[in-house]
Amino acid sequence: MNTCEIVKEGILLKMSQQKMKLSPKNYRERLFTLTSHALTYYEHEKGRKKVKKGAVLTDSISFVEKVDPEENAPTQRQFPFQVAYDENILYLFAKDDPDRMDWLNAVMHVIKGNTKLSPKFHKGFWDDRKFLCCGQTVKNAPGCILWRKDFTGVTPAGRNFGLPPLPTVKGREGVHLPPIPETDPTSVLALYDYTAERPGELSVVKGHRYVPLKKSSQDWWRVRDTDGSEGFVPSTYLKEVGPKNDSKKTGCGESPQEDIKEHSWYVGSLSRVKTEHLLREKGKEGSFVVRDSSQKGMYTVSLFSRALDEVNGTVRHYLVNQNAEGKFFLAENHLFNSISTMIDYHQHNGAGLLTRLRHPATETDVELPAEAGEWELRREDVCVVRELGSGQFGLVQLGVWKEQHQVAIKMVREGCMSSEDFIEEAQVMMKLQHSKLVKLYGVCSDCFPIYIVTEFMSNGCLLDYLRAKGKELTPPTLLHMCVDVCEAMAYLEDQQFIHRDLAARNCLVDQDLTVKVSDFGMARYVLDDQYTSSAGTKFPVKWSAPEVLNYTRFSTKSDVWAYGVLMWEVHSLGKQPYEHYDNARVAERVIQGHRLYRPQQATEPIYKVMKACWHELPEERPTFHQLLSDLSVFEAD
Ligand code: ADP
Repeated sequence: MNTCEIVKEGILLKMSQQKMKLSPKNYRERLFTLTSHALTYYEHEKGRKKVKKGAVLTDSISFVEKVDPEENAPTQRQFPFQVAYDENILYLFAKDDPDRMDWLNAVMHVIKGNTKLSPKFHKGFWDDRKFLCCGQTVKNAPGCILWRKDFTGVTPAGRNFGLPPLPTVKGREGVHLPPIPETDPTSVLALYDYTAERPGELSVVKGHRYVPLKKSSQDWWRVRDTDGSEGFVPSTYLKEVGPKNDSKKTGCGESPQEDIKEHSWYVGSLSRVKTEHLLREKGKEGSFVVRDSSQKGMYTVSLFSRALDEVNGTVRHYLVNQNAEGKFFLAENHLFNSISTMIDYHQHNGAGLLTRLRHPATETDVELPAEAGEWELRREDVCVVRELGSGQFGLVQLGVWKEQHQVAIKMVREGCMSSEDFIEEAQVMMKLQHSKLVKLYGVCSDCFPIYIVTEFMSNGCLLDYLRAKGKELTPPTLLHMCVDVCEAMAYLEDQQFIHRDLAARNCLVDQDLTVKVSDFGMARYVLDDQYTSSAGTKFPVKWSAPEVLNYTRFSTKSDVWAYGVLMWEVHSLGKQPYEHYDNARVAERVIQGHRLYRPQQATEPIYKVMKACWHELPEERPTFHQLLSDLSVFEAD
């Protein structure tokens, strides 16, 4: 999370903290801003920030909770809550209960990873040097009530704090969903929250059921909620489900009112193998489902994480346990009245699990930007995780887009790329899509460093991979790597797109050892004479065909030459071509007709394919399509 990004902002009444014994208690309206870093408050004028008056670092917050209102509290102090930090407590007053709930959830969201969270809290004010709830006279005395952290049983799944409060639905205050009459033949389930935008529409809450009344069109359905309110909801937000009471399952001592079938994370009796397949296919950190356990009447939470094995990931299965008092738990010390509240808690706190339960694996993914046809991405949607390497344009970082998709981010420094030309071309490059080409998702070009956001390839650059792991690779795997590259190049050939810098250093290796071609066409945007001029020290002379060296004449056939050198790199496990010669000497010798020797791992027939790529005349070299069919013969052997 970006530490400066505002999670929530609004006006609250603040009680003075009476740090000095004799200072009178007073209340002031302040503008509060919450980021993941701090809760800061300002003097304000009609909602506009003036002087900063103070701040509480979120790291120091030990709990946030409602507090019982004072007796005969005036209207503006009916909805108090407290933020405890270090040795102090900040008492704040929201304008109404939904506003208070939003603040509680927002603060909870930013402190959920704090190590110092308190297990208990005081529900009375600290007043006149004692707590009104328990009479304790030390301000940092441990709380007197267990802090359950579920203020309503509804914690925001995403960061929708800025949105208007969700409509009040009876039953929302409790953990359990409102009962539906047994006679109800069918009902509809809200798949997402929907906030009514126009008269006649109805707001619905994800996971809640509604009575279907009329499908006015394919797009809008009229439904009734448990309050009896009726209105239209977009049909895409709803799913028809069978009668609520068709399940006799109450196993695991499940609360009789609780029906976990309603949740998107519940997948029923999916087998362990299929569950693992589903989670691995998603491959997303924190993907999870809840399924029927093989122990009858019990449930299992299955969770995917890369915490222990970054490359392959791990799936863990946790049985939902119950203690003697009927409380549910996954990790001891965290007990809950229902499975839903337990899942909700672990969606925000790992608390003993491999990672927190981040995404129900059943949910539709946020569409990737390239698929949505956007190419300029919002910088705030791209969160940097760690450095992957550095290249021609600057650092390359691992990132996460919209908290869902792992991406690689090339951070382009000012002055090393003709960025305007590139950005114009990026729209064309984004349309080049093939399973063996590293996908270009989009760019953030509003300021430097420009971000070029691409598919993340967990095994990094092919050249490094060959050097580090080459000895473990069998000849068929090496050949398969070459075939992957050839497939991508045959596609570029069809698109009449010239790569211009094909080499093992510009290919990347995925988790399952698929090799994909990267940086296609990028050479044209490099601003560095040493790289762009064929006499420059960084020019890829060792991958260049004679017509490139002589006349800078690039074509698909000069890509074929480079492909032959790449095949050589793969079969020599990452050796430097012509390792004992400098660029000038290589250029001279290649123009004279000298060629690379047969690398150890290459059979004679495979070396013959390489040599065909190095024919002096471009027109005599094979096309990538021919190469593909030639190589497929060896694959079948
Ligand atoms: P540039 O194109 O700026 O020269 P590179 O593409 O060579 O940068 O990237 C530098 C390093 O960053 C690579 O060697 C590789 O280790 C890492 N890297 C680049 N792109 C990705 C990616 N999509 N996924 C994983 N690692 C990457």
